[in-house]
This record gives sequence, structure tokens and C-alpha cells, in this order.
Amino acid sequence: MAIIEPDDRLRVLREHAREWATELRPYAFDLERDPDTVYRHLDLPAVNYVGKTMIPAHLQPDPMRIGRYTYYGSSAVERVVAAEEIAFGDAGMFLASPGASLSGVLVGMLGDETQQEWYFGRVRSRPTWTFFALTEPARGSDAMSLSTRLSKAPDGSATLHGEKRYVGNATRAEVGTVFARTGSGPLGVVAVLVETSAPGYHAQALDTVGLRGAQISAIRLDGVPVAPGRILGAHLPASARGMWSALRTFNLLRPGVAAIALGIARAAIEYARSQSKRGRDELDRLGHRVHTTRQLILRAAHEVDRDARNGYYASAAKAQAAQLAEEATQQALRILGPGSRFEHPWLDKLARDARGVEFMEGTRNVQRLTVCHALTKGRFDDD
Ligand SMILES: Cc1cc2nc3c(=O)[nH]c(=O)nc-3n(C[C@H](O)[C@H](O)[C@H](O)COP(=O)(O)OP(=O)(O)OC[C@H]3O[C@@H](n4cnc5c(N)ncnc54)[C@H](O)[C@@H]3O)c2cc1C
Repeated sequence: MAIIEPDDRLRVLREHAREWATELRPYAFDLERDPDTVYRHLDLPAVNYVGKTMIPAHLQPDPMRIGRYTYYGSSAVERVVAAEEIAFGDAGMFLASPGASLSGVLVGMLGDETQQEWYFGRVRSRPTWTFFALTEPARGSDAMSLSTRLSKAPDGSATLHGEKRYVGNATRAEVGTVFARTGSGPLGVVAVLVETSAPGYHAQALDTVGLRGAQISAIRLDGVPVAPGRILGAHLPASARGMWSALRTFNLLRPGVAAIALGIARAAIEYARSQSKRGRDELDRLGHRVHTTRQLILRAAHEVDRDARNGYYASAAKAQAAQLAEEATQQALRILGPGSRFEHPWLDKLARDARGVEFMEGTRNVQRLTVCHALTKGRFDDD
């Protein structure tokens, strides 16, 4: 695989994101104890960057500017460069930050002009949290079998009924997207815009051991009214919305999740080095894997930027990076010896966060299934 070197624009972003990340660590444990402390940190540059990005350029009059460069977070390559560095500081704060996030990508892909102006206008007007609700209880990896229903009445009104689970930021979000079924099969799925102030929307934060900043939540939808103008992609053919759009959204964002895992792995390796002279060879080997995994992530980001259907590199990158995060944190704990989880709370946190990343946007097993499928179809043949 040819080595991919970020250009000057991305190098500048990386350097700045590295600096921003150092400001996150002092608040990381407070955020774990109480995810709502994020409200106190909206002026941190990393949080600010996340909040400004993933808004289409024509709807973002006030993007992040560094020197002569402007950053919209609209490419996967830009997102992975920033995500690795910010997650090195604290993945929890990254995921706790307000912004357009996954739903922004979906609305950018499926929304008509009015819907885009409405959604991105909300996100832009002040720090606004958003959510993306696909996963359901007992329907995580098998998201295709979702059962939340969008029921339409003869007068054209519609209501949402169902339950969602493990949805990031759903308790503090103002607006988000919900995947629901109007019929059977993948073509019978639609994505709708939902305001959390709507009657029938109930969200409850779940107690988690890792990535607590993300405040993943359970949602109950008890007849949430959905106006016809809130159904995304109505102007597109059925094959271009529904589950197809969820898969494309994941393809576009999965390299970023891989980069979060890489940031966690790097943080664990660096921490172990700073605490002990033991385990140098193991840490060097892990450090080498950081470089090769970064290359795979960059490759995956380039692939989805070129064509969002090409998600197989993204799956390979997510699987490899999640494994590295897990091994790096566990190895670091072993190197620091018995009791290291108690004596080194930072490393303990990194190990817990690594477990959380394993589940985000699909587990390793599921990514491997995608990779196997792509291999049998000859999709990796060029390397
Ligand atoms: C921090 C975090 C943030 C999240 N944010 C969101 C969000 O914003 N929106 C949202 O909708 N969801 C979100 N999720 C949910 C996430 O997408 C699911 O956790 C994930 O898809 C796995 O589903 P599950 O938890 O139900 O696990 P399951 O699907 O029950 O999997 C359990 C185990 O079985 C294995 N397994 C399942 N199927 C197979 C198979 N076919 N072959 C082999 N092994 C298999 C898995 O690898 C896993 O080890 C988030 C999760 C986390 C942890």
C-alpha cells in the first residue's frame, strides 16, 4: 500500500488539534463523573472545532479558520486527522461535544434544501447537541431488522412508535434523526427529523463504564408526531434513502471512529512509557502498529471521500484500530503491573474507553464480516 502523507492543510490541522487536546485532559475525570460538565467547556478549542464542523460549506458562514486554511470537517480525511489528536486528549470530551455529527452527514445526504436549512440553522445558531437513532434493544449488529414504526394516517400525518438504545447524546440533544419502518425490507425504512421537545419523546441516559461523555441513552417514542416535511429523502428514489443512507453515513464516519480508537491506543502507549522503563519492546511494537493503522485509516478515509459506497477499507480500519486500542490499553496495564487499574486511573479510563469504541458503529466481528465479503468479491485486489 502506498504511503499516504497528509498535505500542508491537514498537517496544520493536526498540529493545532494536538495542542487543543492537551487542554482536555484536566477535565476528563469530571466529565466521566458527570457528563453534563461539558456545558462548562464549550469554549475549549477542540469542542469548538467539533461544533463548527460537518455543516455543508454553503450553510456555514463561520467555519473554523487556522491561518490561511478553512476547515468544514466535510471530508473523512480531515475528520480522521482531527479525531485522532482530540481523542488522544480525551475521547469522552470529543463525543460529548455539540455539533451536527452523524445526523449532519445524513441530513447533508438526504435532506432537501428546506430540511438542510432548518437542521443546520439549528446547529449553527448556538451550541446544539444532536442524535442519530438507529440501534434498538436486541437489534444492534442486526440493525436492518429494526422495528420502530412510522405510522401514516389518511390525512397525511404520521407518528413514531418504538424504542432506540445506546444513542449518543440523546438526553441533551435538541434535534436528531430516527430510523423507522414504513414497510418491510430495507426499502421500507425511512429516516426522519425529530425534535426532542416533541410530545412522546422520552430519553434516559444509560450508566456505562466507558466513553461516559457520549452519554448514550435509551429512547422511547410514544406516538411522536412527524410532519411530512420532516421525512428525509422524500424527493429521492426509495433505494437512495432508508437503510442505504444509514450504511453510507457509517461508511463516511467509520474512519473517524477508527481514528478515535487510534488516539486512545497512542495515549495508552505514551502513558505507559512515561510511568515505567519496563516493556519497551512491547511498546515499540505497539508504536509501530500505530503507524501502520494510521495509514490504513487514511486510506479508508480517502476511499469513502472518493465514493461513500466503498466502506470495506473503513471496516478494515475500524476493526484493526479497535483491536489495537484494546491490546495497547491491556498491554500497558500489564506492563505497569498488578493493581495498575487502581494506581493509574488514567490508564484504567483508557482501557474502558477502548471497550466503548469497540461497539461504536459496529463491532469487530461485524466489520470482519464486511471485510470477508469484500475479499470474496475481489474489492481489495488493487493492493
Ligand atoms: C459509545 C457508543 C456510542 C453509540 N452511539 C450510537 C448512536 O449514536 N446511535 C445508534 O443508533 N447506536 C449507537 N451505539 C450502538 C452501537 O451501534 C451498537 O452497540 C453496536 O451496533 C452493537 O450492537 P449491540 O450493542 O446490540 O451488540 P450485539 O449486536 O448484541 O452484539 C453482541 C456481540 O455479538 C457479536 N455479534 C453480533 N452479530 C454477530 C454476527 N453476525 N457474527 C459474529 N458476531 C456477532 C458482536 O460482535 C458482539 O461481540 C453506540 C454504542 C456505543 C458503545
